[in-house]
Amino acid sequence: MPTDPSPPLVLSYSEASCLVRDHAAHLPDAGVLLEEEVPLQRALGRVLAAPVVADRDQPPFNRATRDGYACRSAELNVRPLRVTGLVKAGEAWAGTLEPDAAIEIMTGAPVPSSADCVVMIEHTLRDGSSIRLTAERKLLPGENIVSTGSEAALGALLVPAGTRLSARHIAVAAFCGYAYLRVFRKPLVAVQATGDELVEISEDPLPFQIRNSNSYSLAAQIEQCGGEPLILPILRDDCDATQAAIVQALNHAGADLLILSGGVSMGRFDFVEEALKNLDAEFFFTGAKIQPGKPIVFGRVPRAKLNSWTYFFGLPGNPISTMVTFALFVQPLLNALSGEARGAPRFALARLDGDLHIKSGLTRFLPAALETQEFAPKVRPIPWQGSGDLASNAKANCYLVVPDKLDEGREAMRAGEIVSVLLIG
Ligand code: AMP
Ligand code: MG
Repeated sequence: MPTDPSPPLVLSYSEASCLVRDHAAHLPDAGVLLEEEVPLQRALGRVLAAPVVADRDQPPFNRATRDGYACRSAELNVRPLRVTGLVKAGEAWAGTLEPDAAIEIMTGAPVPSSADCVVMIEHTLRDGSSIRLTAERKLLPGENIVSTGSEAALGALLVPAGTRLSARHIAVAAFCGYAYLRVFRKPLVAVQATGDELVEISEDPLPFQIRNSNSYSLAAQIEQCGGEPLILPILRDDCDATQAAIVQALNHAGADLLILSGGVSMGRFDFVEEALKNLDAEFFFTGAKIQPGKPIVFGRVPRAKLNSWTYFFGLPGNPISTMVTFALFVQPLLNALSGEARGAPRFALARLDGDLHIKSGLTRFLPAALETQEFAPKVRPIPWQGSGDLASNAKANCYLVVPDKLDEGREAMRAGEIVSVLLIG
């Protein structure tokens, strides 16, 4: 029978969340982040370790943003101009712009130096080699020109280190000639499922057994937030075996973070906390006032030889509890271990579709469907059978946040109220 590992330390959602983020914020100081170089095409989703800076002024020349005519605005505003040349993208126009002359110009071409605007072709009337402005138009200097260096000056910081790279960052890096980017190494995250009832997904479960889905949901979540999952073989509910597996994960596999699922509740065969305690783990909390996921455990455990420690999470085994607690607590720490400056969790606001009752004392995260049609996000809880209901969870695209209490002692949130949702990948 497990012994009590330490006095229970059950925090509110915000206390637990602040505590994890505090540890996350101090990680870079601990020197755990290593760097590597990857080709630009492999950099999507990685975290930048060295900033992307402008290798020249952007744009590098006064760029025409429309097809039309480059000219002096004051001239064309009052009289027709002669068209004396043409410049297209990929060329430079070498001549001088004579008085009362205009140069035909294409989008992306450099604007001749003595022109102060580009008039759109649609705003002109052409008669042979002469153009005039259509009656209702007036030109302003600078119209349809993006001037040299106005988007970014040479050396300007375009993407800071600590940014998780998305397509728009890849675009700007490509623009500045980065064929390779310096990124942080992906942290290795050991995933340890525990439970006498579990079988591998390739096995046929007996009627009273269940398949180990948590190792796979966790591995997917780890990959989604930039970690390298290492799925360890299922552990039986046995304290010595759990202890040995943790030692193996830390000291042989060299995991940067350890996630255990199951075995953290009050059952007679929940040995995870005891095993960690026997390894001199430090516990930051042993529960959070949330649903699902209340028995979550967070702490760190010393490594044998390296005179250092590794963070661990003991996540409740119920599959939705495992996924929700990952999104709320593991992800911020893992983001930080990957070098990301501002990581998860990410919340958004939406209008509630239906009424919801408050359960005082617990912040709840309910599987929900967020619809974002017509610029007005709407969220509706998905009916579910509780924290083991993976089938309902598969229909969700967010978790609706139900606070533990409401203003003025109200006991329900009503349809049409603005509520928070936890965004998930
Ligand atoms: P526990 O947290 O160990 O008390 O487990 C709570 C519930 O989650 C039980 O119904 C377990 O069968 C289930 N469970 C535990 N581990 C897993 C897993 N790896 N995959 C799927 N379900 C699990
Ligand atoms: Mg169990």
